[in-house]
Amino acid sequence: MEIAPSSDSSLQLLESADGKQMRHRFAEAPSDNTDPPLLTAIEHLAWGRNSAGCYPHRRCGCQYARIDPESLSTNSASFQIFGSALESMVDFPRITDAQKLVKFHVYHIAWHHNCFHGPTFLQQCEVFWASGRCDHPLWIALYFAVLSCTINSIQNSHKLRSQVDVNLDAMQTTQQLFSAMVQTMYSSHFLNNLSIYSVQAVVISTEVAHNLGLSQLNATLFNAAVRIAECLGLHKIKDHPQIPAPNRDQWEERIEREVGRRIWCQMIIQDHFAIPFTDTYSISPMHYSTNRPINADDYNLVEMPASTPTISTYVRVLVNLAALMPDLCDGLGPMNKRKSTREQYERILQVDQKMRTIVQNIPPFLLRPDKAKEAQIPWLRIARRSLAITAAEKIIMVHRPFLFHSFNDAKYTHTRRTCVAAAMTILREHETIVEEDDLSIWTHSAFAITAAVILCFEFYSIVEEIDSAKKELYRDAVLTARDRLASRHSDVLAQRGVALVDAIFISEGSSLGALEPIPGMPIDFNRILANFATLSKLNPHADADDMSITKLLGSTPEGSGSAGFDADEMAMAWNQEIDFDAWFNGVFNTLQTPPL
Ligand SMILES: [Zn+2]
Repeated sequence: MEIAPSSDSSLQLLESADGKQMRHRFAEAPSDNTDPPLLTAIEHLAWGRNSAGCYPHRRCGCQYARIDPESLSTNSASFQIFGSALESMVDFPRITDAQKLVKFHVYHIAWHHNCFHGPTFLQQCEVFWASGRCDHPLWIALYFAVLSCTINSIQNSHKLRSQVDVNLDAMQTTQQLFSAMVQTMYSSHFLNNLSIYSVQAVVISTEVAHNLGLSQLNATLFNAAVRIAECLGLHKIKDHPQIPAPNRDQWEERIEREVGRRIWCQMIIQDHFAIPFTDTYSISPMHYSTNRPINADDYNLVEMPASTPTISTYVRVLVNLAALMPDLCDGLGPMNKRKSTREQYERILQVDQKMRTIVQNIPPFLLRPDKAKEAQIPWLRIARRSLAITAAEKIIMVHRPFLFHSFNDAKYTHTRRTCVAAAMTILREHETIVEEDDLSIWTHSAFAITAAVILCFEFYSIVEEIDSAKKELYRDAVLTARDRLASRHSDVLAQRGVALVDAIFISEGSSLGALEPIPGMPIDFNRILANFATLSKLNPHADADDMSITKLLGSTPEGSGSAGFDADEMAMAWNQEIDFDAWFNGVFNTLQTPPL
């Protein structure tokens, strides 16, 4: 290996084994000997890997360095789709349709994932529509992900379909656009041709993958995306200095760093909220240094006070809730040696308290209507409703390890009452969104299913005598939610939810017409699973091949049936008993008055 002289003393030109010159800017590697050791950084040259943390690779010498002016630009247009192999593989929507859908996405949907810089993405689309050119073949995957997600969000709303003014029946479906995204990634070898665009595509496609019944594919793609992001250094993005009058180069770098932080933030959210599926997480809070995205709008990226809504506000709130989850998971003890049931439950009650504190500190414009702000920001109202649903579901998520037990065991009454109240909150908000014919976010169907299942269990619970008025209320809430889910087109997740509700009713000895539980019988988990499998086979739209319904039903904490567990002691441990419904509606203080 030959070290050539350089005018920049920090920049060394190294020659690799294949004779290709590789530049490595040692100044980019931290000067201390811990992050990472310089020796490791050098050794990684032999591995063809990078550990210097130099994202967005504008002035580094690693293998992802963008040295020439063309590849530095976020609009290099260096790839031409016309005549490419990719063009013959995938079917592109008409440009006039795509223009309307992309613009709608930027102004009405992007707040939910916050994974790109709207003006940059629009500019890239304009170049693509005009010339067939884009930065990189994998940018096409991002393009398909955005289109697929947009159609998924509007296709069940008459109001939005007419507002966007695209004949969705005459164009590619969400499924076809999602498949085109996956095909683009495979054909462009996304696993070794690493690009930020694949990461964006995967993370945004989460918005539609679950509704398509492709949760498992999403999960594997997502974890690949985490590793791609780490290889690119998204977990170690250094803060960018505020430059008063940046030149074009500095402005583009600023955008790239901020987009990197936004994507990483969304990955933390998706990773940590997926913990109940596998009881693991992939992004360790100890192992990244990238800060949260700033509360700034796209046009100037200037940090605003938390009281000002920006495109980054929603995810900045959500990541605070997500950040509680690894701690909750670890707090239950190692998987092969869980802590005592009492300790586990105490942990859950502690996290419940922390979560309520975070919810109470959410900016007011996301908790209650603000006509002035809503007139300026088209997505603010649906973001507020979505957050109410999500925050209620996260309280359920905290209690999930004891949720199923709570319907059969009076020791966990606090969990049962909290989750039932949260479920009612979710279904009330879900009903309002559907009545307002508003935007669909994938979480709406998903969490309405969770809520309906919880209310079914409450209906059949044997731990407490529930009066007939409440039973009537729960039954109506479940049946109307079931009808809303059943009426959704192109939503496999919703159809599975319908099958699940039906399976519970059938399993527990009732039909939809005559909902009477069998007295004294605990809920039969296995019978529900068997009935769900049967119903799913009968309903081709609810194919259960990759459905993890145990996630919906809750896991079984080890040793939860252990003797010597004192209910009174537990009641004392929970010394701040607060009725969830009253508390939650006090926070989201203009939601409808709880009927209970
Ligand atoms: Zn680099």
